Amino acid sequence: MQHLAALSQARGVSGDETEVRDLIIRAIQDHVSDLHVDALGSVTAVKHGTSAQPLRVMLDAHMDEVGFMVMGFENDGLLRFAPVGSIDDRLLPALRVKVGKKAHNGVILWTPIHQNRDQNVKSYKDLRIDIGASSKQAAESMVSIGERITFDSAFVDLGRIVRGKAFDDRVGCALLIDLLQGEAVACDILASFTVQEEIGLRGAKVSARRLRPDCAIALEGTTAHDVPSGTDDPDDLTTPNQGCVLGGGAALTVMDRSMVAHPRLLGFIRETATAHGIPYQLKTVLGGGTNAGAIHLTEAGIPAAVVSVPCRYIHSPAALLHRDDYANTLRLLRAVLNALTSDALTS
Ligand SMILES: [Zn+2]
Repeated sequence: MQHLAALSQARGVSGDETEVRDLIIRAIQDHVSDLHVDALGSVTAVKHGTSAQPLRVMLDAHMDEVGFMVMGFENDGLLRFAPVGSIDDRLLPALRVKVGKKAHNGVILWTPIHQNRDQNVKSYKDLRIDIGASSKQAAESMVSIGERITFDSAFVDLGRIVRGKAFDDRVGCALLIDLLQGEAVACDILASFTVQEEIGLRGAKVSARRLRPDCAIALEGTTAHDVPSGTDDPDDLTTPNQGCVLGGGAALTVMDRSMVAHPRLLGFIRETATAHGIPYQLKTVLGGGTNAGAIHLTEAGIPAAVVSVPCRYIHSPAALLHRDDYANTLRLLRAVLNALTSDALTS
């Protein structure tokens, strides 16, 4: 959780992952070989396995988070902005943000141009960010077009649950750091901390070609569905949950919009979980994609799967995850990496 707390509070909107990358390199550099930062900014590194002929397993976690970018200035000092990655416009009015390299305190306005209380915000284009600048010139002296904007939110310990921004995918980064800092496993771990996932699975396309693994697992923070929707009857307890729940263990993707999980690799992960008594749940709700979608199409094809920690309210300033899910996902990954062989992928 120490890694997750620090990683969650680091700022790393897609294409500007430096702060996150620096934290990760400091955490892993004494535990890996072949540490490399590629031209796009992704970090790759190897932790050698203990097996005589270790399977080379790529573990990917993306460093970037969704956020915004400064796109222009109004004469009154307000900022125009655009989302980087997918963010629900309903989140925006009155949202607190950190703007630019210097992390200026900003707030997104509600009806910024008119004081029309009936006005509905249909899009971020209706809104502006206020950083307290009194003129265009003053605003331009504080930030530049292209600088990133993050949610302004702290990591909070709620007991069994922790809350914070960017758990998608700093929870994957934290898991991967824990694996690299821990005891060696049978397989080689080809670690890949990637850039620009949220805007099209971009960094992973490059890092997979560099690492050329035997198989790959994307580590993710994924949507937990155990929240009421606007149409649910709160008194109706007969409708089963259609998705993953907090506390239910690692979420194993069956299929999403970017891939179908490799059946033997997914089967092996499920068998390993069962053999060790580690809880897991299958993610069958379609929607979204992960870096596994990019990795599995690399070169002649790479068997790939996705192992995720379920999080409520991802892509918002305050996501929630359960400590037990984190611990059980880490246990499952270690068990898989100690047992996985090429036979498991082909037999
Ligand atoms: Zn993600």
